[in-house]
Amino acid sequence: MSDNNIYDLYGSMVFNDEAMRRRLPKEVYKSLTRTIATGGTIDASIADVVANAMKDWAIEKGATHYTHWFQPLTGVTAEKHDAFISPLRGDKVVMEFSGKELIKGEPDASSFPSGGLRATFEARGYTAWDPASYAFVKDNTLYIPTAFCSYTGEALDTKTPLLRSMDAISDQALRILRLFGDTETSRVTTTVGAEQEYFLVNKEYYDSRKDLIYCGRTLFGAPAPKGQEMDDHYFGPLKPKVAAFMAELDEALWKLGINAKTEHNEAAPSQHELAPIYATTNMAVDQNLLIMEYMRLIAPRHGMECLLHEKPYAGVNGSGKHNNWSLTTDGGKNLVDPGKTPRENTRFLLILSAIVQAVDEYQDLLRASVAYAGNDHRLGGNEAPPAILSIFLGEELQGIVDSIVEGTDYMKPGTATMNLGVPSVPTFRRDTTDRNRTSPFAFTGNKFEFRSLGSSQNIAMPNVMLNTAVAKVFREMADKLEKADDFNAAVNQLIRDTLTAHRRILFDGNGYCPEWQDEAARRGLSNFRTTVEALEHLTDEKNVSLFTEFGVLSPVELAARREILLENYAKVLNIEAQTMIVMASRQIIPAVEAYIGKIARTAELKKSLCGPECTAMERDIVSRLSALNTQAYEAVEALRKADADARAAGDEIAVARAFRDTVVPAMAALRAPVDEMETMIASEDWPLPTYGEMTYKQ
Ligand code: ADP
Ligand code: MG
Repeated sequence: MSDNNIYDLYGSMVFNDEAMRRRLPKEVYKSLTRTIATGGTIDASIADVVANAMKDWAIEKGATHYTHWFQPLTGVTAEKHDAFISPLRGDKVVMEFSGKELIKGEPDASSFPSGGLRATFEARGYTAWDPASYAFVKDNTLYIPTAFCSYTGEALDTKTPLLRSMDAISDQALRILRLFGDTETSRVTTTVGAEQEYFLVNKEYYDSRKDLIYCGRTLFGAPAPKGQEMDDHYFGPLKPKVAAFMAELDEALWKLGINAKTEHNEAAPSQHELAPIYATTNMAVDQNLLIMEYMRLIAPRHGMECLLHEKPYAGVNGSGKHNNWSLTTDGGKNLVDPGKTPRENTRFLLILSAIVQAVDEYQDLLRASVAYAGNDHRLGGNEAPPAILSIFLGEELQGIVDSIVEGTDYMKPGTATMNLGVPSVPTFRRDTTDRNRTSPFAFTGNKFEFRSLGSSQNIAMPNVMLNTAVAKVFREMADKLEKADDFNAAVNQLIRDTLTAHRRILFDGNGYCPEWQDEAARRGLSNFRTTVEALEHLTDEKNVSLFTEFGVLSPVELAARREILLENYAKVLNIEAQTMIVMASRQIIPAVEAYIGKIARTAELKKSLCGPECTAMERDIVSRLSALNTQAYEAVEALRKADADARAAGDEIAVARAFRDTVVPAMAALRAPVDEMETMIASEDWPLPTYGEMTYKQ
C-alpha cells in the first residue's frame, strides 16, 4: 500500500454522507438525506446547490468530466462523459455543472437492448439521478449513479425495478412492524453483501486463447493431471503476484468506500474470492459492478487477466456469487436476526415464514433471475447449487419450524462449547447450526444467502425478484392480520398455516445427490435445468401480476426482459460456436495435420534405417490422430450447420431452444476429439496453453 493512511484513503473518492454534511448547507443536507432515507422524491430546488457542491468536490479530486453511470440490460455498466467546461467570453472557460445536468441525462438509447420496447428510430432515452447511491470520482470523472428509461418512461435498466422493489418491500414491511407496535421505523431497507468469486490467469496464456478473449471461458482443453482433488488451494497461502493484485484492488475499492474485507483462495486452483461488507441493496449492486470492473482493470497490471465467467475451465469448480440478503430498519435493527430465543420471537417467526412462502411461491422467478448461458454450467450441471430452489434453515430453526407445524414442544438444543483439549487454545461456543454448502438458499445466522447467482452477473434482478416476492407475502399477511380481532391468536395461526403450507421448500440434505432430484419432484418443486426452461416461465400469469401489482415491472417491461434474456442466450452460444469453429479450423486441425506430417516423416526415416517393423508406433499415432482429426473436421462442419439452422429457427424462444438442443451438443461433439488429441501431441506442437499451465502458472 502507498504511504496514504487507510483512514484518509477510505471513501476519499466518494461523495458520501460525510462529504455531503461538510459540503452542503445544513437545510440542503437535511433535505437530501431525508430523501435518501425515506426513498422519497428529490426536491428540485436543491438540485443546483447539490450539483455545485458535488462539482467543487469532484474538481478537488481531479475530475474534469462527469458522467451519468447506468446499468442497461446488457449486463454491464454504461457511461458517456461530458466535460464540466463551459466557454466564457474571451478565451476563458468556467467549470459548470447544473442541477438539471445532475438530475437528468439524455444518452442516445438506440444501441442498448430494449426487447422491442423502443424502436431504434425512437432513440431518445433518459438517465435520472439516483440520490440513494453515492456519486464517486474515478479516472478524473465524476460518476453519478442513475436509472435509465425510454422516452415513454419504460425502465430500460436493472436499477429502476430494483429501486421500485425496495420501495415495495419497505411499504409492506412497515405494515408488519406497525402490527407489532413499532411506530418509529419509517423505512425498511434490504441489505446485501455479495461474495465475488473469480479466476486469475497469466496474461500471456489469456492472449493466446481466442476462447478466453471472446467468451471468457475455455471451449477446449484436456484436464490437467492435477485438478482440485487435493483441496490444497482452498484457503491456501496467496502467491505473491496474487497478493499484490489483491492489495492494489483493496486500495482502489477502499477509496470508493467499498469495504473489501475478506479475501482468500477458493476451491479450484487459481480461483479466489472477495467479500465486501454488506450495504443497502442499490449500493451493493453498484459496488459489486465496480468490484468486477476493477478486478478486470487491475489484473493486467500484475501480468494476469481476471476471469469472471461462471465456468472458465471444465472439470474444476465454477464461480458463483453469494447474495447475502437481509432486512434492516432505519433504526439499524436486523429483522432477520432471530435473537437468543427465536421460538419466542413472534415477529421474527412471521418474517421467516413470509420468506419461506415467498421463495416457495416464486421459485420459478428466483430461478429465472439467475438464468443465462454462463450459469447453465453450474446450475443443473453437477455442481454448486442445483437448479432446484430450496431453503436450508439449520438445526435450530428447522427444529422450531417442525415443532410449530406439528404442534409439539420445542426443545432447544444445548449450546455446545468447543474444547479442543489443548489448554492454551481458548474454548468457544459452537454455532447453533453447521453450514450446508449445497443449499441454494441458506439461513446463515441473521441473513439468507442466495447462492445460485453466477459470478459474472449483475445482482440487481435476483434482488428485484426476492424483494417483490417477499413484499407480496408481507402484504397478504398484513391484510389478514390488520383485520384480526385477536392479533396474538391470529399471528400464531398464520405462522403455523404458512409454514405448514410451504414446508416442502425446506430441505437440509445434500442438494447434489441424485435422490434429491426425485424427492424434489415428489414434493412438486420446479426443476428448470436450463436457461431456456427457466425463462419460459418468467412471464407466467402469476409473475406478470406480481410485478404489475407492485409497479415493479409493467407487463411490457417484463416481456422485454424475457426477450432480451432469450436473445442474449442465443448470442452467447453463437459466439461460442463461432469461436470454436475458428479455433478448430485455423489452429487445432492444421496443427494436428502438421504433427501427423512430422511423425510420418520420422517414420519414413526410421523405415529407411531399420525397416517397416520399427515404425509401428508412428503408424499407430498417425492412424489414431488422423481418425480423431477427421472426426474434428466433420464436427466443425456439423457445428457450422447447427449454428446456422439455430439462428434461423424462428422467434426468440425457438432460436434459444435450437441453440440448447442442437448447438450445445454439436459443441460438445467437437470438443471431445480435440481434447483427446491434445493429450497425444507434443507440448511444443499444441497451439494452445493447457489447463495445467493456465491453472497452475499464474
Ligand atoms: P461466508 O463465507 O460464511 O458466506 P463471508 O464472510 O465470506 O461469509 O460473507 C458474508 C457476507 O455476508 C459478507 O459480505 C457480509 O458483509 C454479508 N452480511 C453480513 N451481515 C449481513 C446482513 N445483515 N445483510 C446482508 N449481508 C450481510
Ligand atoms: Mg458464502
